[in-house]
Amino acid sequence: MNPGISEVILAEPRGFCAGVDRAIEIVERAIAKFGAPIYVRHEIVHNTYVVNELKAKGAIFIEELSDVPPGATLVFSAHGVSKAVEQEARDRGFSIFDATCPLVTKVHVEVAKLAKEGYEFIMIGHKGHPEVEGTMGQLSSGIHLVEDVEDVARVAPGQTDKLAVVTQTTLSVDDAADIAAAVRARFPKVREPKQQDICYATQNRQDAVKIMSPQVDLVIVVGSPTSSNSNRLRELAQRLGTESYMVDSAAELEPGWFEGKARVGITAGASAPEVLVREVIDRVRAFGAVSVRKMDGIEETIKFPLPKGLKLDDIPPPGHIS
Ligand code: SF4
Repeated sequence: MNPGISEVILAEPRGFCAGVDRAIEIVERAIAKFGAPIYVRHEIVHNTYVVNELKAKGAIFIEELSDVPPGATLVFSAHGVSKAVEQEARDRGFSIFDATCPLVTKVHVEVAKLAKEGYEFIMIGHKGHPEVEGTMGQLSSGIHLVEDVEDVARVAPGQTDKLAVVTQTTLSVDDAADIAAAVRARFPKVREPKQQDICYATQNRQDAVKIMSPQVDLVIVVGSPTSSNSNRLRELAQRLGTESYMVDSAAELEPGWFEGKARVGITAGASAPEVLVREVIDRVRAFGAVSVRKMDGIEETIKFPLPKGLKLDDIPPPGHIS
């Protein structure tokens, strides 16, 4: 028991975004319609709890399409896939449902459209992240990754007359702005997206942490280590001068973190379910927190439609007994 904790403040908004909601629903509905197992390429979203829940319902997560048996139903994860992966899945004859977040697909469409007009691209993102592999893999060449301002000085596009910038959707808004400014300084004619590629959910969760951090002594981010947007939330709080830790579950909370901390802020990445936030709150209460207050914040109402064949009218909802 830590007598020091007087209040828990919950960031608003936090947790699931519309793209994650949709991706999970696609897997659940595919299982309900076609029966288990349903194969999913890569973790459907980067959260251990979500993946384990879906495994228990009959999803099998794979990285290589060669691990999927002929005739199987395959779901692409929310992060999107390259053209090569899409083509291989078609060639192998799978029945495919695409859970790529529509905001990632929007970036893919923009890349394809501008490439036809002769553009090359500078992509701001994290090497090895599946979304970056998917977006860069929309083209066979002419798309160059920069991870930081130093990379901008080194990048060597084949031409600079028609150059466009795209970004991963889950970056630090501030870092991406710095890198984009460096790109602009080096390539003044560069074309930037009309609306930035960083998605509303990433922006809103980072904005909430910016408001919350100065009000608290400690920020706990609920999220898995593989989750890009969760990592950015922890870094942001830390950068704003507030001690911060990211946990995959309440069991990872260490009592020592709360020593001498009167106010604790809690947020969650876009792939972290609210049930984990509740468990974290309960454990922090057990450490001595006396009250829990929700911050004022933006209410998100965005919802993305399901793919054809899995729409609400097409099949009974998961768990329905007819
Ligand atoms: S974090 Fe943004 S881009 Fe990623 S799934 Fe959610 S809404 Fe889509």
